[in-house]
Amino acid sequence: MLAIMNTIQEKYKKRKALYFSLMAALFGLIFAFRFVPHPGGNELSPVEFLLIACLIGIVMAMYAVFRCPQCNASLVPGFFSSWRKLHVCPKCGVQLTEK
Ligand SMILES: [Zn+2]
Repeated sequence: MLAIMNTIQEKYKKRKALYFSLMAALFGLIFAFRFVPHPGGNELSPVEFLLIACLIGIVMAMYAVFRCPQCNASLVPGFFSSWRKLHVCPKCGVQLTEK
């Protein structure tokens, strides 16, 4: 039983690390927008279009990655509503981190 718990916590740790690196990439992309020349009007330049596609891809990857290792529930909403002090899965109640 303890070994299973450790695997879940280990998985959660890895997913959280991945989630944070995706978030860093997301902020990097948003920052990159400042350096992209805007053609004016409502038209998007191909570079802007690519950046937006990347943003959407990253957000989707964040949701896909940051899930409960046991029940696969998305932990993104719970993570923010608990002020990043998510210790148990909001859905199945599995212990995600050691207290
Ligand atoms: Zn769960």
